[in-house]
Amino acid sequence: MLDRNRRGGWRTRVGALALACSGCGGDAAPGGSRPGDFAEPTPASVEGATEANMARTEIDFPDGAVPEAAVPGRPNVLIVTIDTLRADHLEVYGYPRVTSPRLTELAEASVVFEQAYAPMATTLPSHTSMFTGVYPHEHGVLANISDGRTYQRREDLMTLAQLFERAGYETEAVVAAFPLDPQFGLNAGFRSYSAPESKQRPAKANTDEALAALERLAASTKPGFLWVHYFDPHGPYNPPYRFEVQFRMDDEIRAYLAERRFSERSQRPTGQWNELEEGIDRYDGEIAYTDFQIQRLLKAAEKNGWLDGAVLAVLADHGEGLNQHDVPGHGLTWEEQLHVPLMLRIPGVAPRRIPWPVSLVDLAPTLLHVLDVPGKQEFLAQVTGVDRFRTDIVHGDARILGQSSPRQSEGGEIRYVLRADRWKLHLDEEGVTSLYDLDADPFELHDVAGDHGRVVEKLASELEALLKLQRREVRTLEASEQVEAELRALGYGGK
Ligand SMILES: [Zn+2]
Repeated sequence: MLDRNRRGGWRTRVGALALACSGCGGDAAPGGSRPGDFAEPTPASVEGATEANMARTEIDFPDGAVPEAAVPGRPNVLIVTIDTLRADHLEVYGYPRVTSPRLTELAEASVVFEQAYAPMATTLPSHTSMFTGVYPHEHGVLANISDGRTYQRREDLMTLAQLFERAGYETEAVVAAFPLDPQFGLNAGFRSYSAPESKQRPAKANTDEALAALERLAASTKPGFLWVHYFDPHGPYNPPYRFEVQFRMDDEIRAYLAERRFSERSQRPTGQWNELEEGIDRYDGEIAYTDFQIQRLLKAAEKNGWLDGAVLAVLADHGEGLNQHDVPGHGLTWEEQLHVPLMLRIPGVAPRRIPWPVSLVDLAPTLLHVLDVPGKQEFLAQVTGVDRFRTDIVHGDARILGQSSPRQSEGGEIRYVLRADRWKLHLDEEGVTSLYDLDADPFELHDVAGDHGRVVEKLASELEALLKLQRREVRTLEASEQVEAELRALGYGGK
């Protein structure tokens, strides 16, 4: 039974989410693909599933698309994360502008995940999920900063860098912004961790640092694990002049914006207004600038031989509103903020596009499918993400979980989303729901919760069950004035 509530949303019979779950055990997979975890309901049993949708769940990998075994030897590993890069501003994901020729070229040699989702559209929580294979409530990092406090990762969780370091790899990181400062814990396992002393480091200077890291790695007798993070598509959008003037609004992009119903203006928490057309042109310029610098990085790695036979992952930590749903920035649960690019170039694995939804918590177990790293079983034991190269599970049945950060609302209330086949359910802690049919309405413009009560109830109870299975252990520390000031300068002040 559904009731209209005072805020105009739908309240489900399952009621408010029970979130006092500290100490809840369980190692189930919120990716939902471990057989038997959530046998009922399957997408086919959810009201409104069509024959086409049911067929989609049966897609399997063709020969050669997925490795039978790990890449031989101990290949180098390069992970490139691009902050604030929404998937649909790359040609690879259908954008009409040429923002990213180097990534397009890379995608042609890669496994491209068409529907990859960040677990949260916030920098530190999302990166922590990538590197630990668990959701934000499980690693405990729920914000860059919230209410003057920073978050600490659960101490018993290993990161990918720690795994590779223990396995004898030389590990280096080059990150471009203060939310990934070593004091927030992602430096664990990195022998060298280069971060800017303040705010952010532009892509050129960041690439210079990465090239120095590459030289050290190429000179080592050990295999290398390198993470390079770029921050430029994050606001404010101020690319170098050449890229600032690269794009000028035209009718094709105006049609793209109109279809998605972008607002002409929207206001940032800092009070600044984001003007639509100028913002889009400059944001795309930041992407083109970053793409150009990634080309520099990859060319150098190819030239010194370090990239030969290497495993390469390129992805984003989250997207950006750009005034869609009246939101200029990120941190919420709309598609444009959670849908991210994800491509993996793996020696011996045929390029292909993977159509089913995946989460960034799946990155680590999927990478480890192709890497024979000593100690990986111990790492995999902590992971709730799903190995998306497994052939013995039906990936189309996946449940993909996303959430907002408590800093996004005055009461610290968190909004959750569950993606299941064509449906995406939004649910907050008071049980207020909305439902979107992404097949018919990919831009989340028409709430159909009132027309599909059975779907809402099933997905809301599944979402609640998934959250209850998460082990929660959140620890916060009072932020210093300096930390607050640095994060405020990047738009992360206060809640
Ligand atoms: Zn970010």
